[in-house]
Amino acid sequence: MKKHNEFLHSFVIAASAAFAALGSPPNCPVQSEPVATNAPAGRGPAEVSPNRPLAGSLLNRIAPPPKHVVDTFIGAGMTEIRAHTLTEVELTRVEKALASLPELHRQILDEHLHNLGFLDGIPGEGTGLTSPAGAPGQFDITLRASIIDESLTTFLTTKERRLFLPDPDLTTVTVRGTGTDALTYILLHESTHVVDSVLAITTKTIGPFEAGIWVNRKDFVPSLQQSLALKTPFRRQAPIPMRTAMAVYDALVETPFVSLYATASPSEDFAELVAWHEVLQQHHGELIIEVKDAQGKVLRSYEPLSNPKVRQRFPSVDRLLTPVSQPS
Ligand SMILES: [Zn+2]
Repeated sequence: MKKHNEFLHSFVIAASAAFAALGSPPNCPVQSEPVATNAPAGRGPAEVSPNRPLAGSLLNRIAPPPKHVVDTFIGAGMTEIRAHTLTEVELTRVEKALASLPELHRQILDEHLHNLGFLDGIPGEGTGLTSPAGAPGQFDITLRASIIDESLTTFLTTKERRLFLPDPDLTTVTVRGTGTDALTYILLHESTHVVDSVLAITTKTIGPFEAGIWVNRKDFVPSLQQSLALKTPFRRQAPIPMRTAMAVYDALVETPFVSLYATASPSEDFAELVAWHEVLQQHHGELIIEVKDAQGKVLRSYEPLSNPKVRQRFPSVDRLLTPVSQPS
């Protein structure tokens, strides 16, 4: 169990280092601008009802983030953060997102999720953090509260544009995510880190999810090493000139990575693969990256979920997520 804790510590540190190039704090998976919450006026904070249909046991983990988590955010310069109390509407959204997670994820969270917390006051670049809790094998997931009201497209586009040097006379990048919302995607991604840690999927030697792609926890197989898709701030490289955006995505579709963020580490690769597999299979959503000219005309469009090199990894995810029937 201690091993899991050590792993996630290293994951958080790695994430912190990866985002140093972007000038942002320890953070997973990505960043986005805050969007004002639209909580209905006059509604007070919600109480978790024991009669809620889902997994009351998961809803009961919702509480103000623990002090060590708050200290991590403050240590990263976010001195204005404060615990966010969910309104009834927000709680219903969180409940729905938790209920939509794969059964494997819900079972592992049931045993290993210590706290699910939401924070106000996280600046635009902050989204969330998955970190070891005090007890062995226990984890805290802490999210920017305004993510609850954010569209997946807003979230993804804001994150992706931070990779590029803006140029108003040239192209822009838009990342459209359909089928679900940012909260569901984030919970899929973050809870996959918990699954990964508990089951030690990417934490041991190279396993089936990394074989042929990664040679260790930070390096790629030789055939991938020169790819432009690996020369981004997610790999601690400088921001990319916007005029080379098409070349970067042309390179991405020649790799088995579902997103540029997946190149950050084997654990991010796995979290992205599982999250997008679920967006496609369970939410019937799409991921569409568009490079547009200054007039908004789409110059090129990419659909990573249709990339054969990505799709050939999905059966492994299916096998992982398929419940094993209990012997009677
Ligand atoms: Zn992540």
